[in-house]
Amino acid sequence: MRLIAAAIAAGLLWATAYAVACWVWPFVACPRCTGSGTHRSPSGRAWRDCRRCSGTGRRLRLGRRAANWAARRRA
Ligand SMILES: [Zn+2]
Repeated sequence: MRLIAAAIAAGLLWATAYAVACWVWPFVACPRCTGSGTHRSPSGRAWRDCRRCSGTGRRLRLGRRAANWAARRRA
């Protein structure tokens, strides 16, 4: 029983740390273009905006997206 309580406490601590991290650093590099925002042609010279992030090179983290969703829902 003690072990379960410790596991729950650790989980809550991790969730709090993750929520704070998502608030302070809301973006991660786009996994498709690894943050460059461009998608290069095989020749390497031509390029277009990355479709996943529409050229910004960044993606909102899951935690921040959830927070935004919750905030929109409350309003
Ligand atoms: Zn991208």
